[in-house]
Amino acid sequence: MKLSVTTDYVTGLGDPLPYLERIAEAGFTHVHWCHEWNTDYLYSDQDISGIGSQLEKLGLELLDLHASVGIERSWVSSDQEARRAGIDLVRNRMAMARRLGSDVIVMHPPFAADNENCQAVRQRWLASLEELQADSVRTGVRIALENGNQRGLQETEIAFDLHGSDYLGLCFDSGHANLHGAELLERHPDRLLVLHLHDNDGTADQHRIPFTGTVDWEKVIGLIAGSSYDKCISLEVSMSNSPIKDEKKFLASCLTVAERLSKMCR
Ligand SMILES: [Zn+2]
Repeated sequence: MKLSVTTDYVTGLGDPLPYLERIAEAGFTHVHWCHEWNTDYLYSDQDISGIGSQLEKLGLELLDLHASVGIERSWVSSDQEARRAGIDLVRNRMAMARRLGSDVIVMHPPFAADNENCQAVRQRWLASLEELQADSVRTGVRIALENGNQRGLQETEIAFDLHGSDYLGLCFDSGHANLHGAELLERHPDRLLVLHLHDNDGTADQHRIPFTGTVDWEKVIGLIAGSSYDKCISLEVSMSNSPIKDEKKFLASCLTVAERLSKMCR
């Protein structure tokens, strides 16, 4: 059974190899690459080759990749140089996904509830998206916009009006949907490209193991089953809010739950 888990279940910084080893050992077949998703880090050709070799050696495949908005490199920055660098950072991840065998990266639309600058941020964001479309065509890597809050929903709807599903899709995050609603997936089941499955108690984004919070999993699986999504169950869990403090036990529990969700999808 094909099953995926995020690489940053402990940390998204530093050497990912120890985590990749434990993920493979636990029995997962795929990873969601979530390292460096919110930093300025640019992967070099050498980095990418090294990661490719490690994945191959461990029998893991890259399902998809959470791409990045950093501090000095941000595709929505008001500083022109930082915005250019932010676009290059997204290009870097498209190339990385392509080289490691994936066809989609995840990006957050603007989430900040900063209404004063809303229009300006939107303009810069849409300009960055426009510019990256040629890279998507060239690499065959699409961008999946992740559901978040109401602002993110609005921004995503605007972007979906401007760009077709051959360029922009949806990343469905079950934890975010438990806090802010699942409207985006309900409205655009034909855009679903990536899953971020995890749970919470409805008060905060806790990235807990599915079935340990208040997410309605029957409903979530029903939505996924009725969508265009054709890849495997993929967990975006974190140990930080888990009562399980042993990594191996944590991953074993994740695998059991991923198998359960996978069976519910059939
Ligand atoms: Zn997510």
